[in-house]
Amino acid sequence: MNTISPAVADAFHLLRIDLYDHLDEAEYLAEKSQEWSEQDRETARALIPDLVVVIRGLLLEHGAHPSGVCRICASAWPCPVVTTIHELVKDPDRQFVTLVERTHSDG
Ligand SMILES: [Zn+2]
Repeated sequence: MNTISPAVADAFHLLRIDLYDHLDEAEYLAEKSQEWSEQDRETARALIPDLVVVIRGLLLEHGAHPSGVCRICASAWPCPVVTTIHELVKDPDRQFVTLVERTHSDG
């Protein structure tokens, strides 16, 4: 088994912290207790498609190879990344499901 050097481990740690910082800021906007400013609304409107781009990007990258394995993970498709995205997007307690149900019942 390969072990990474302490310097690389530190770099991975900093990368994780940086990415989580960006996600935390997006979450803080949604959980802001004060009334949203116009800038908050504009940021949220832009942030939703940005978050969808992130999810779509993962799904695209982790698409199935004709052989039936993930192009990135080489795991049987759906790979763990796609399975996790599926669980989170299809979770009935999340707004993805509520939004789709509402959209289909309106039409
Ligand atoms: Zn994969």
